[in-house]
Amino acid sequence: MPISYHEERHFGEFGGQYVPETLLAPLEELTEAYKTFASSEEFQKDFKRIVSEYSGRPTPLTYAQQLSRDLNREIYLKREDLNHTGAHKLNNAIGQILLADRMDKERIIAETGAGQHGVAVATVCAYFDKECIVYMGEKDIKRQSLNVYRMELLGARVEPVKTGARTLKDATSEAIRDWVTNVENTHYLLGSVVGPYPYPDMVRDFQAIIGEETKEQFQTQTGTDPDGLVACIGGGSNAMGLFAPFLDNEEIELFGVEAAGEGIDSGRHSAPLVTSGHGVLHGSKSYLMSDEDGQVQTPHSVAAGLDYPGVGPQLADLKEKGRLQVKAVKDDQVIKGFKYLSALEGIIPALEPAHVFGLLAEEPDWLGDCEQVVINLSGRGDKDVLEVAEYEGRDLLAGGEAE
Ligand SMILES: *Cc1c(COP(=O)(O)O)cnc(C)c1O
Repeated sequence: MPISYHEERHFGEFGGQYVPETLLAPLEELTEAYKTFASSEEFQKDFKRIVSEYSGRPTPLTYAQQLSRDLNREIYLKREDLNHTGAHKLNNAIGQILLADRMDKERIIAETGAGQHGVAVATVCAYFDKECIVYMGEKDIKRQSLNVYRMELLGARVEPVKTGARTLKDATSEAIRDWVTNVENTHYLLGSVVGPYPYPDMVRDFQAIIGEETKEQFQTQTGTDPDGLVACIGGGSNAMGLFAPFLDNEEIELFGVEAAGEGIDSGRHSAPLVTSGHGVLHGSKSYLMSDEDGQVQTPHSVAAGLDYPGVGPQLADLKEKGRLQVKAVKDDQVIKGFKYLSALEGIIPALEPAHVFGLLAEEPDWLGDCEQVVINLSGRGDKDVLEVAEYEGRDLLAGGEAE
């Protein structure tokens, strides 16, 4: 964990703090708290204890036998799907709630897209007995009603956001607005490696437990380091969490997979790194989906967790430097990836990491010379089964084939 992987407020030309003046002091307070508490031995001990006792870490590193045969190389899956609540997001939520507790913040706010981050936040708020308000776009509320109900069961208040595209970007803006007003007693528990400093650093360092475990497990299982690492990229937290402990070794290749949605040319996608526009969104500079007038575009993906027009500044920098290779995958290929891994390995992936499997099923050569590869299986697919069936024209709740 903490503060070990980066010290600056910028990653090359990306990152920074592009925020209204009212947010500078809260960000400074958070930075100070993060540096003081998170690096302390006591904090790290609490973090390790909770991710183990409550979330079930370490998650396994699974050698994927059938997938390896099919792709003609050794493939290992980092099983973040086996975390409590079903995805990697709980790692960050546990880190930040511990920090909020140290800072005596009793009110927690968050934004959510797929609902996975909202569920993670509602979960840790219940566990720490904190008030929890989750901002969520109205459109996401509709397509992720199970997660909304989960959050309510967990004791959170889900606040519908009706502005803009009514998805994650708008929920994030609303959460920032709340934070400015209520900063005294409120911690904003941001869900990915985006936003102003210190969030991209802090979230990465909490998620780096993924890469740290992977490094150790891979050494134990093979006696060496992997030569390729692959992750899907929404905001970028599961990718940065896996990559962080391996960044020093330039020989390890990094692969990121974005959502091409209905196709890059259609404009209906969530692939800022592939489409290469730059801009400022939610407090930091990064790659950003924007049109010729600089207006932020509305993102689209079949995977609600990738439905964000921006991306973490460190990933932007890694791409800019040529260290990170990126491709985007269309929705229909993602559905294939979802079914491909399920049938091949007995693991139903979330639609977000299904992007990786959809791509590799079609283009295994993208991995080049990499012979030993770790794929971050960021979450499980239970939440997506109904949507996939519907995509294929089946209405399971009505009891079979759709019209
Ligand atoms: C939210 C989510 C993602 C995307 O977020 P990152 O910050 O890019 O990791 C990926 N996979 C799953 C399962 C998610 O829930």
